[in-house]
Amino acid sequence: MPKSNDKPSKVETIKEESRHLRGPVDEELTNDEPKFSKASYEILKFHGTYQQDDRDLRKGRDKHWMFMIRGRMPGGRLTADQYLAIDTIVDTFGDGSIRATTRQAFQMYGVVKDQLKPTIKAINDSLVTTLGACGDVVRNVMAIPSPDIDGRQAKVQHVADLLSDDLLPATNAYHELWLDGEKVYSGKEETENEPLYKDHYLPRKFKIALTVPGDNSVDLYTQDIGLVALFDNEGEIRGFNVIVGGGLGMNHQKEDTYPRLGDHLGYVAHDEVVDLVKGIIAVQRDLGNRSNRKQARMKYLIDKIGLDEFRKELAARTDATVHPFEELPPFEPGLYLGWNRQSDGNWFLGVSIENGRIRDREEIRIKTGLRTVIETVRPGVRFTPNQNLLLTDIREEDRETVDRLLSEHGIAPEQDLSPLLKYSMACPALPTCGLAITESERIFPSFIRNLEDVLDELGVPDEALSIRMTGCPNGCARPYVAEIGLVGRSLEKYSFFLGGDPAGTRLATLYKDLVPYDELIPEIRKLLVHWKENRNENEAFGDYYARIGIDHAAEALAHAS
Ligand code: SF4
Repeated sequence: MPKSNDKPSKVETIKEESRHLRGPVDEELTNDEPKFSKASYEILKFHGTYQQDDRDLRKGRDKHWMFMIRGRMPGGRLTADQYLAIDTIVDTFGDGSIRATTRQAFQMYGVVKDQLKPTIKAINDSLVTTLGACGDVVRNVMAIPSPDIDGRQAKVQHVADLLSDDLLPATNAYHELWLDGEKVYSGKEETENEPLYKDHYLPRKFKIALTVPGDNSVDLYTQDIGLVALFDNEGEIRGFNVIVGGGLGMNHQKEDTYPRLGDHLGYVAHDEVVDLVKGIIAVQRDLGNRSNRKQARMKYLIDKIGLDEFRKELAARTDATVHPFEELPPFEPGLYLGWNRQSDGNWFLGVSIENGRIRDREEIRIKTGLRTVIETVRPGVRFTPNQNLLLTDIREEDRETVDRLLSEHGIAPEQDLSPLLKYSMACPALPTCGLAITESERIFPSFIRNLEDVLDELGVPDEALSIRMTGCPNGCARPYVAEIGLVGRSLEKYSFFLGGDPAGTRLATLYKDLVPYDELIPEIRKLLVHWKENRNENEAFGDYYARIGIDHAAEALAHAS
């Protein structure tokens, strides 16, 4: 374990004693208990699964135990066969829904313990791994989600694939536990050494995303490492601008925890980018806080030692040369909903998945509709960072079929959705997430419908306002970069953050705390009225409140009705 005077946290000891992610899961997997021990709970995360209980069914200490399983798929890409396999697996072993996550992965819920192994095995049989989807390692590597539009996107996604494979844990434990030792798929050769992660893996989760200049669909500044590909005159990647130290999780009333945007580290040549990324990870591995997990993300290390010292530590761990950061054009949010052209002449269709939940509901049969389209036309499938789905590689002559099938299943075309709905996100929260303090996903649809009515009433129905809600301050739906971020604070009360950037490059500020759910929409209405009456021409809502400042906003609105 790296040297430190502080006592390592319990999780560090659990990792050390796990024999490279084997124990005690290997001993507990086949016993009759409906749940695993706390030590196994921690190790299971590295294998892509969280032990949860259905919080609607809790009766005192009596809990209904179940497992969430997350896939690891760089850039969110699946083939038609893989998507259809997952669709079947969630019906067979889970609660019948697929959740598109904000890191371009899928999650399934409601798996019981004795079905955990066959479920993970079935996912692997479809050539999707769950290894490293959670835990203290590099999580799913994100990348600009669109298929190739102008010759750049596919090249960036290729680098995301290489990085993802290179940064997988090397232990054979995954195959021993879930695949009976049989190597099905991991993307890299198995060895029993962990050359990058060593015996203790990283101090905390670690997030990486890649994009092209101008496209911030991946919320680049919220990642531990953000990479922006830069191209030469022949259209080849010549190198990457590198951003380090972003991260959004915080704890209420703990001022030493906070969301943070990444810093501009510099530019690295294409052939040195993997080396540089591994060097950055090694700095965090060796110097990150291992005694307090609330201080263990790389953002805190950079704030503690400063970017200059971080650069020195990095230089000691990589031969890659870091050059000055190159100027970039402004970023835009990238949603890719509706029909879009690919560089090969085919089309892709962005389908909005409200709150990322793929489940049939009354007249909107989105799960069956997607399955039917994918079985019929066999497009590629991509999960986006905004919890939507792209259906790719669709021929011109199949577009009408796709539109018709989606319409027959009640799935609205892009032009029928409000901008508010398109730009908003909510995390799963209750009943599955053990950390949830408040509701999020379940109440968000009615919340958004009510807010759409307010925007209509105020005469700004087309305002592309980004609102994100989470059930706890972990911030899985990235609320701290939204124009309005609502973060579960206590029973049915939220912290209200205001003033993020529509493109996700500016942090929102805490505007009000402990706001009861019933007062959220009246509060937003007041803010909308004030913004509408006082903004500069075409000034976005978040830009306006960032310009005038939270204190001024609170003062101006104190007496508004
Ligand atoms: Fe759970 Fe909190 Fe993440 Fe929501 S933000 S899914 S409540 S950990």
